[in-house]
Amino acid sequence: MLLFPTSSSYSQTKINNNFKEEMKIADQLVRSALTERKGYQLLKELTDMGPRLSGSENSVKAIMWAKKKMEEAGFDKVWLQPVMIPHWVRGTVEQAEIVKSKLFKNRKLTIATLGGSIGTGEKGITAEVLEVKNFDELRALGEKAKGKIIFMSRPLDPGIIQTFRGYGQAVDQRVFGAIEAAKHGAVGVMIKSITTKYDNVPHTGVMIYNDTIPKIPSVALGYQDADFVSEALKKDPHLEVRITLDCKTLPDAQSYNLVGELTGSEFPEEIIVVGGHSDSWDKGVGANDDGTGIMQSMEVLDLFKRLGIKPKRTIRCVFFINEENGSRGGEKYSEYAKSSKEIHVAAIEADAGSGSPRGFSIDSDSLTIENIRSWLPVLKRSDIDWVEKGGSGSDVGDIKNAKARIGYVPDPQRYFDYHHSDNDQFAIIHPREFELGSAAMATLVYMIDLYGL
Ligand SMILES: [Zn+2]
Repeated sequence: MLLFPTSSSYSQTKINNNFKEEMKIADQLVRSALTERKGYQLLKELTDMGPRLSGSENSVKAIMWAKKKMEEAGFDKVWLQPVMIPHWVRGTVEQAEIVKSKLFKNRKLTIATLGGSIGTGEKGITAEVLEVKNFDELRALGEKAKGKIIFMSRPLDPGIIQTFRGYGQAVDQRVFGAIEAAKHGAVGVMIKSITTKYDNVPHTGVMIYNDTIPKIPSVALGYQDADFVSEALKKDPHLEVRITLDCKTLPDAQSYNLVGELTGSEFPEEIIVVGGHSDSWDKGVGANDDGTGIMQSMEVLDLFKRLGIKPKRTIRCVFFINEENGSRGGEKYSEYAKSSKEIHVAAIEADAGSGSPRGFSIDSDSLTIENIRSWLPVLKRSDIDWVEKGGSGSDVGDIKNAKARIGYVPDPQRYFDYHHSDNDQFAIIHPREFELGSAAMATLVYMIDLYGL
């Protein structure tokens, strides 16, 4: 998940004629990315393997496949960083149905279990449903919530232009809904899918428990079925829903961050990281989230090789594991960065999808940001419009000893149409938009390598 710029006034950058050479390189990076589409083809291969949920066999298989691809591409070093990660499995039963109602009996509801949820047992849970829009309304229910399924139906606000901000305002229902509902004695939680698309494909995502509060099952309803339930409750407030799930959490599993690098010719101990997360949810195939980010990061190094650019500093791509439901990979790498003798110059994260390039959101001091902003004439060659102060991303955000943590920001309008759902397929990736992302990040890495920070 990527945070967004805290300021909206984009400063005017003067065109610096001294960047003529750099612009030429930037144009070559764009041309090579757009014509050869190597990252895009690798994304096809990766997603053909299926989803990559943390702890799954498939996730490890994908990491080993990518390791081999990095070796074949001729990266100077390719290595694995072992990480123990949570291992939640969805199971095969995932059902919800209105079981008691004069008007709506036997109406099935399309659901996705939220990641980390407990199962229900074979008989499922059956209860009346109470709808609330937020935690204040939930608290106001008090005793009435006891024994009920709480239905949290506040949508991602479609009126907010910045979809990531809209997501941030709605996602508390998914993450903390079970804790808040169980405090009042509820037996289950349903949320309206957090999506920008008006369809009936339910979106999963992480939810958490608190050890001192009873654990209750949690699911997301397809957006249209959520609307249906809201209407049905107006006509029959006492209808009952049964939810049956056989998901469970297994012991932690062995997994890995994957690291590939081009060794710097002058300052090999100075590191520029570019990366994304290799795990995905098990709905869809994680093409957009975050197959795109890892394949673009790998292509940054490959573009350097294709153009014969020998970096002065070490360019390192990292495939972080377990961003979706634990962030253990990000934690592991930032611990490594703290304890290693290497100097982390910058860490760039690509985890906001495959839209056309827009900008770079930078977590650093204002002088460093101003310095990077002065490169805009070069960055604009791959359609980057802005460089602003803001958050970077959850996998690189803790690499505090890096001079700058940077989030790559593509166009966000369609991101949540796909996010964590069966909609996240290879077919929704546009090759030009995807490849411009590889070129944009390669251009930024090229400039950081050339000038330092
Ligand atoms: Zn992601």
